[in-house]
Amino acid sequence: MKNELVFKIGDIKQYFYCPRIVYFNYLMPRFRPVTYKMEEGKLRQSEQEKLEKRRTVARFDLFSGEAVSKVEKQFNVRLYSEELGLSGMLDMLLIMEDEAIPVDFKDGSFARGEIVALHHKYQLIGYGLLVEACLRKKATRGFIHSIEEGKAKSVFFSEGAKMFLRGKIRKMHEMIINEILPLPTLHNVRCRECEFNPVCRG
Ligand code: SF4
Repeated sequence: MKNELVFKIGDIKQYFYCPRIVYFNYLMPRFRPVTYKMEEGKLRQSEQEKLEKRRTVARFDLFSGEAVSKVEKQFNVRLYSEELGLSGMLDMLLIMEDEAIPVDFKDGSFARGEIVALHHKYQLIGYGLLVEACLRKKATRGFIHSIEEGKAKSVFFSEGAKMFLRGKIRKMHEMIINEILPLPTLHNVRCRECEFNPVCRG
């Protein structure tokens, strides 16, 4: 099915953080400025890419010695699926004979610690859906790499989680096309620093 609207992969992260942010971003696009934090994050990711080109994939602790040498790394991989109505640029893709593994570099406090935040998890699964659609290789797992900690956390992409996310992407399309204001996040603490607070809660 053709989608008129193509979401960016970051919209998935924001939708799981608070669906209203996606609503306001699309229906009030001039409201939100690009913050200093966002610009700084882009610079640090570019530094990370330079480092990654020299590193092996051994730290992902997934492959036998022989397989490690056969893993191809690609950086800043553009992905697009008309059927999903989704596009994105992936920081790093590990390509093997029978599967491809997306790796998302993350900066800041959300990426620290052992737990993968739900909105990061579903953004990564979104990359998995795009990889399957574009490369015709299976994507059953991915990594969130914390730039600050230098560690990678794995996320398993179950078929149930992929199906759940497909349903959410359809809901996102309906929300924007039909201008349906979603419920606010249940986590009130997220509203404190939200740029949309004046229009949403004011
Ligand atoms: S103020 Fe709160 S509910 Fe409104 S968009 Fe921001 S995070 Fe969501």
